[in-house]
Amino acid sequence: MALKKEYWQGILVAIALAVGIYFLAHGCSKKASADSANTAGAAATYDLVISGGRVMDPESNLDAVRNVGIRGGKVTAISASPLSGKSTLDAKGLVVAPGFIDLHEHGAEPRNYQFQAHDGVTTSLELEVGTDDVDKWYAAREGKALINYGVSIGHIPVRMAVMHDNASWIPTADAARRVATPEDMKQMLAMMERGFREGALAEGMGINYTPAATHQEIIEMFRVAARYNASVHVHMRYSGIKEPMTGLAALEEVIAVAAETGAALHVVHITSMELKATPDAIAMIEGARQHGIDVTTENYPYTAGSTSIESTVFDPGWQEAQGITYKDLQWAATGERLTAETFEKYRKQGGIVVIHSIPEEDVRIALANPNIIVASDGMRITGAKVHPRGQGTFSRVLGYYVREEKVLDLMTALRKMTLLPAQRLEKHAPAFHDKGRIRVGADADITVFDAARVIDKATFEDPLEYSEGIEFVLVNGTPVLKDGQFVEGVMPGRAARAPISH
Ligand SMILES: [Zn+2]
Repeated sequence: MALKKEYWQGILVAIALAVGIYFLAHGCSKKASADSANTAGAAATYDLVISGGRVMDPESNLDAVRNVGIRGGKVTAISASPLSGKSTLDAKGLVVAPGFIDLHEHGAEPRNYQFQAHDGVTTSLELEVGTDDVDKWYAAREGKALINYGVSIGHIPVRMAVMHDNASWIPTADAARRVATPEDMKQMLAMMERGFREGALAEGMGINYTPAATHQEIIEMFRVAARYNASVHVHMRYSGIKEPMTGLAALEEVIAVAAETGAALHVVHITSMELKATPDAIAMIEGARQHGIDVTTENYPYTAGSTSIESTVFDPGWQEAQGITYKDLQWAATGERLTAETFEKYRKQGGIVVIHSIPEEDVRIALANPNIIVASDGMRITGAKVHPRGQGTFSRVLGYYVREEKVLDLMTALRKMTLLPAQRLEKHAPAFHDKGRIRVGADADITVFDAARVIDKATFEDPLEYSEGIEFVLVNGTPVLKDGQFVEGVMPGRAARAPISH
């Protein structure tokens, strides 16, 4: 007996040594920690496996061929060895990335979400204009959305509600032109508070559209956001390069308010505000960050902006401020370029105009900057023509600016579309800790694309075209796109929302 026991002990020691030598020989540093998730073992069955794709995660910097196991809408395994699932998507030769998060999209309707899914977006957020009724906004989309959706409590719509300005989207009457009374201020602040208690993701602001809002009003609005640890997403007071009311002066205002109140600041579409002063504006933002102010910015990959022609943006002086004239404006409904005559006609009528004002060089400078988020500023689709940015922004960055023009590398581009927007929101909305990453425990919002083929197809002439090369899109573990085609009858989008406290 005694001899036999020693014999077995010897075998066990030998096995332990062999296992130890195996791990020493194969190393288990970075790769093993990325794979450690696979604790359930290869025998476990997943709801879905994405097999053999090049998994790129901007948080861990993992960039390797892996199998991704998904269960219950979450990523539950990332493994170099095969995984078995109830169904499998073959991602060989494709990039497997976190689903793109768009911080700035105005459509927020089923048609917009279809275009965005084809562009790789899994979470589409209306944070610049926002809403005046957060509960109602989320309720309208519950169970009916292809991709995840979210909204801010918006200073513009709140000001419109309090001042009974009935314009459809952007104010044209009192909300744009009248200074708030103390009673207006009281009501607006109460509505902002209510929005945050109802789980608004951020605070939206468009001072350019509400020029009667005083500096003090802006400060009060930032104070509300600061109390909720929320970021303020601002379309600034001025755009352009004509002193003294320049984009840089506008940036001075909001950086000062962020410094004073402690609210995080997110400046929307930096290039369309600053035009050729974009590098100076980026330097201001980077300086503020280095000195402890929480400020971020975003841009879209186009040389034109777009907004309502009846808005205050086209008050007298717009040509000098923007360095453009009538022919640089394009009437969205028909695609025609404007003249002095048609400008007056359409300004009375109201509608969307495309503004060809942004230098290509400045688009590239913003895209090349690793800290500037990619966001579409997509518009509601009301007819055959609209700015193409809502349909093509993300594929245009990946296909044109990464692959063809080499303005930035692929991992940096993905980081600007996934991790950075998630990090922008996660202090106030902790649910975003599990978005914008491919790691165990993250939401299975995943975009799988062909890096050699991905490209935008929406143009200013032909804006309603789906992007190409986005092959599979998963929202909370459910495919909405397979082999580049819609999956019929699925609506897996969920509310992306901050904690509710009412
Ligand atoms: Zn804007």
